[in-house]
Amino acid sequence: MLRGTGVSPGVARGTALVIACGYRSAAPRRSIQPSEAEGERLRLDAALAAAAAQLAALQEDVGERLGPSQAEIFGAQTLAVQDPELRERVLRRVREKRINVEAALSEVIDEYLRIIEAVPDTYLRERAADVRDVGRRVLSTLIERRGPSSLVIPAGAIVVTEELLPSVTARLELDRVGGLVTERGHRFSHSSILARSLGTPAIAGVPEASVRIRTGDRLIVDGLAGVVFVNPEPSVEGEYDRLEAELRAGKEELSHLVELPSVTRDGTTVPLYANVSQLADTESALRFEADGIGLYRTEFAFSIHPAFPTEDEQYESLARVAERFHPRRVVFRLLDLGGDKVLPYFPMPPARNPSLAQRGVRLLLRHPDVLKPQLRALLRVSAVHPASILLPVVGGLEEVREIRDVLRQVQAELAAEGRPFNPDVPLGAMIEVPSAALMARTLAREVAFLSLGTNDLVQYVLAADREDESIAPYYQPLHPGVLRLIGSVADAAVSAGRELTICGEMGGDPLHTRLLLGLGLRSFSVAPGEMLAVKSAIRETRLDDARDLAQRAVELGSVAEVEALLGERGAGAPDAS
Ligand code: PEP
Ligand code: MG
Repeated sequence: MLRGTGVSPGVARGTALVIACGYRSAAPRRSIQPSEAEGERLRLDAALAAAAAQLAALQEDVGERLGPSQAEIFGAQTLAVQDPELRERVLRRVREKRINVEAALSEVIDEYLRIIEAVPDTYLRERAADVRDVGRRVLSTLIERRGPSSLVIPAGAIVVTEELLPSVTARLELDRVGGLVTERGHRFSHSSILARSLGTPAIAGVPEASVRIRTGDRLIVDGLAGVVFVNPEPSVEGEYDRLEAELRAGKEELSHLVELPSVTRDGTTVPLYANVSQLADTESALRFEADGIGLYRTEFAFSIHPAFPTEDEQYESLARVAERFHPRRVVFRLLDLGGDKVLPYFPMPPARNPSLAQRGVRLLLRHPDVLKPQLRALLRVSAVHPASILLPVVGGLEEVREIRDVLRQVQAELAAEGRPFNPDVPLGAMIEVPSAALMARTLAREVAFLSLGTNDLVQYVLAADREDESIAPYYQPLHPGVLRLIGSVADAAVSAGRELTICGEMGGDPLHTRLLLGLGLRSFSVAPGEMLAVKSAIRETRLDDARDLAQRAVELGSVAEVEALLGERGAGAPDAS
């Protein structure tokens, strides 16, 4: 049995498919015959040459579009791709371990990263992102040169890999994937969020999973307990037969809730929206009768393109989503890059800590060539659909005002071209940076609505990286400091008369619903698969009791005490009468 962190609940049973991931594509790891080694060498040489040529072209293109200093990064990466040591190490591994070149390259890059990340020198540590980037690029080239159908996922296979970038997840035929096991990431990583929104059981942070599990192994993935059984005994299989039957019964029990309103026991309606990243999960949001989309993460649509999608391409995909939901509201968030959200065609300057570097609106404001086409596409959608625009990673008032200035310019351009749009398109701000949370009242007056992004807010308040599994014990959404801050943001929204919707993952846990209602939240946006359980918790709550619970929780000194309070009968549990 291997242990990790359960990041998407449910049980998956099936055959392992161990893959190596590039930027947007993946290939199986497999054993080879000694006679195949020469063919693998030729493939590696061709991929290294193609990656070097791509980098040179990118250096030129980015130099022209974004300036020479942004382009320098690709010069350094070209040198890394041409490093004979890298080539030699990969080929040695192919020969000695008799594995395909994709598997060998992944292992070598992983080894480099482990060495770099262990060095206290900050300059070297900053290079880790470059090494990872180079590895992905060469892998992508290797995989894509094989043709688009190089990865066929057998129905129900359990995909095992080192790290699953959101861009790869978005392209995997996820409806065929039974479950996911990854070495990196934790509950609040973007691929985990995507797995939850698609209802695919997943475990992250399983050390050396892609080496310890082999393609063809029989696996049981328990996404709740965070364990994976490799070639389990019949007794374990029997235990999971029973557990799966219970889970199915639990789901059926909730299905009657689809048609019932989201309303507390004492009659307060609590809008329940869906968090969505791609067209596929709009279908489950519709099936569970979401009141609308409270958070549409646009970065996934960017990550399935090989280059920036044009305004028209963006318009088409956004309009399709808005049409499916019409006349319900869709909140489209502007491209939120930075942290672990990267695009192979958009260079991020090296940063010691990507979560504290250029991100969200700050990055967009530096790149009007990226911001403007997206705003134009969104405004065109707003002409016929109730679309709102949400700003990611807002730190303060200036950023909102600067975006509004660009919005006005874009509106003037569209008007001059005779293109229709909603001149009063609602503009909202994510509250996910502590400064924004602390000045929520002032920000609320500046915008039409607020969205509480607890995934980032928790990492910034507690100084605990949401992507780093080693710091996961300190990433505590129930920390009394976090709860106090959430309570104060809810108060600020009420006093400014603005809607505040929680769209962070914390809002999707039904064990937190009562506490969040007690802290003053009156609108939830959660993964489609979590909607019914949250609705059930809302319908079981009386607001007076919820307020008492919240008041007691914020007075406590530790997460353990808050958890104990939520676990008490009559406290975290549903009202008895
Ligand atoms: C958040 O930070 O809570 C959020 C909803 O945004 P994301 O998870 O996409 O960063
Ligand atoms: Mg966020």
